[in-house]
Amino acid sequence: MDVTSIIESLNDAQRQAVTAPSQAMLVLAGAGSGKTRVLVHRIAWQIKVEGVPAHGILAVTFTNKAAKEMRGRIQDLLNIPAQALWIGTFHGIAHRLLRRHAKQARLPDTFQVMDSSDQLRVIKRLLNTLNLDDSRWPPREVQWYINAQKDEGIRARHMIETADAHQRQMLTIYRAYEELCDRSGLVDFTELLLRAHELLRDNPDLLDFYQQRFRQVHVDEFQDTNTIQYAWLRLLTGGRDNLFVVGDDDQSIYGWRGAKIENIYRFQKNYPNHQVIKLEQNYRSTGTILKAANKVIARNEGRMGKELWTDSGEGELILLYAAFNEQDEAYFVVERIRAWVKEGGLRSEAAILYRSNAQSRQFEEKLMATATPYRVYGGLRFFDRAEIKNALAYLRLISNRNDDASFERIVNTPTRGIGIKILDDIRNIARDQSISLWAAAIVLINQRSMTARSRNALIGFLELIKQLDKQAEGLELYEKVKLVVEKSRLVELYQKEKMDKGEEKIENLEELVNAARLFDFDRENEESLGELDMFLTHAALESGNNQADDYEDCVQLMTLHSAKGLEFKLVFLVGMEEGLFPSQQSVDDVGRLEEERRLCYVGMTRAMQQLYLTYAESRRLYGRETYPRPSRFVREIPGEFIQEVRMRATVSRPVAAVQPKVTSLQPAGSYKPGQRVSHAKFGEGVVLQMEGAGAQERAQINFKQAGVKWLMLSYAKLEML
Ligand code: ATP
Ligand code: MG
Repeated sequence: MDVTSIIESLNDAQRQAVTAPSQAMLVLAGAGSGKTRVLVHRIAWQIKVEGVPAHGILAVTFTNKAAKEMRGRIQDLLNIPAQALWIGTFHGIAHRLLRRHAKQARLPDTFQVMDSSDQLRVIKRLLNTLNLDDSRWPPREVQWYINAQKDEGIRARHMIETADAHQRQMLTIYRAYEELCDRSGLVDFTELLLRAHELLRDNPDLLDFYQQRFRQVHVDEFQDTNTIQYAWLRLLTGGRDNLFVVGDDDQSIYGWRGAKIENIYRFQKNYPNHQVIKLEQNYRSTGTILKAANKVIARNEGRMGKELWTDSGEGELILLYAAFNEQDEAYFVVERIRAWVKEGGLRSEAAILYRSNAQSRQFEEKLMATATPYRVYGGLRFFDRAEIKNALAYLRLISNRNDDASFERIVNTPTRGIGIKILDDIRNIARDQSISLWAAAIVLINQRSMTARSRNALIGFLELIKQLDKQAEGLELYEKVKLVVEKSRLVELYQKEKMDKGEEKIENLEELVNAARLFDFDRENEESLGELDMFLTHAALESGNNQADDYEDCVQLMTLHSAKGLEFKLVFLVGMEEGLFPSQQSVDDVGRLEEERRLCYVGMTRAMQQLYLTYAESRRLYGRETYPRPSRFVREIPGEFIQEVRMRATVSRPVAAVQPKVTSLQPAGSYKPGQRVSHAKFGEGVVLQMEGAGAQERAQINFKQAGVKWLMLSYAKLEML
């Protein structure tokens, strides 16, 4: 048997991990050391050499993108279609289990998955029915609370009433939320995991079946698993030693969402016969990038401690650019990418990584202005847009009349004369009788208590949905979507909207029909599910993949969180500012600050060849002009690895933003003899000569009023004229 292709491109430690006989194993190693590669090759090895059937493999990764890549790589290595392997995210796999065994999971066959904004809407509505004030009970906080309980496997019924009034109220809300979801057949993201865990725990036959089936279980990015995910892995592996996990404690970045780094210790305790393998060679980044990242992460306490080295040479210095403002920052980044492309680089080799989604807009605008194709992962995703959600809500209601969230969303969209009062009546009936909004609407119609106009409007709506359901029968999926888009009168609604906005929405609806047409059933591989339900689930679970074509060469934009596990030749870490990154909420909390630092480590180690760091001296944030200081993470990189980029700003400093507060890292070297400058105290002057470098750089300036002075550039707050 020829296994060369599986082991030839591995170093000794990697080969040891890949070829070890079946046993529990933990590969603990830093970024870019080949953990994911080892995992993929081990799966191939098990199939080819150990004779594990493809359907006996379960592999869990963190994003859909990673799962897709993994499947592709195994397919290439083995030269077989990898369809039979269960590879996916925890959520995706949990969902698949629930679909297959809905009844045993105590779910209706037609249950719908809610994404986090659906969930938030349901919570808002619930608070409303419970007569709770939004300002005292912020829906986001409630959402966070509910999810945090579920992440720990705690149901409302497990919780004990406490004397604390706030706690008690939260518990009441949680209980009501569970009831509502059960009644409507709605499942949120955390519920997927919890429900799948309970499914296996409470059905011994089923558990036995899957334990037999999955002979080998593999987990990538193990450091970011939470309590319920780990419990689920324990169940699936039973008492056996067939769990193979890879991870890096320095890249644990989901603590805020319940991830438990302790799972690494638990694993070691729960699988006493495990083997630990450490990988120390980094194959991804240049020496400079690697050393700089190592220096930053070294500031964290309580690390498991790993050393990474590379033999790929020092490479280029890290480039640091201080932009005047966020527009200048975006301009700079986009110009550098254009230069990269001009020199033969691919757009997809360049990534712009930011701390929060809202930062993407500036870059998107500059990219659009230069007609540079790009793709945003996460963030304002295609399936999250209001018009798309409206169309999907029609489809959802057609598929499941009990879907209250969808009912609520579209009962009066487009407006059809069903006012708030009627909706309240429907809600009350639904609550009193514990029935769905749809059923409550029928009750209300039969009560004949409304005005004839309202009653007709409501009847009209129910009829429309029934009719659509009937007409959709036998149609292809995309025809169904098209039917809904046309008959719902959503297009008419947006036609009335002024200017481009409405047009864009109509285009998006057309794109939805297109997405349905291109929808890949095989890949989803959900045998028990109707096409429409599969598509709707796909819309809730997988998002952000509809901007540029999968095969189009485009610049990659994403948050640092979603960049985990990926790599790019050219990486821009933007918005390197105190208050943004690290975020304001984390600067006073050591634990959170360390998580931000790990996030910075993740970001830096995505870069293969060239890493850029940028920050803006003034930034419009949440509607205010701010003058942030450069991020402490920039200062934590030794100066020897950094070179400041000097260029004349392309966007002039806005009048309101004359003086950045602290500019210890102001780009130096941009001053030349003859340059006219202005100083807050000394007024206008002309640069005579320069001296020193870096933080020590000084300029001799002849001020009109104040005469000749030597100023430290890092403190002088000079403005070029
Ligand atoms: P991360 O912690 O960021 O997830 P990782 O440890 O999973 O990183 P991989 O993504 O598996 O690392 O590998 C990083 C890069 O190094 C990839 O491009 C991979 O193909 C390459 N690589 C890994 N091992 C080797 C090797 N033995 N020879 C050549 N290239 C390798
Ligand atoms: Mg990896």
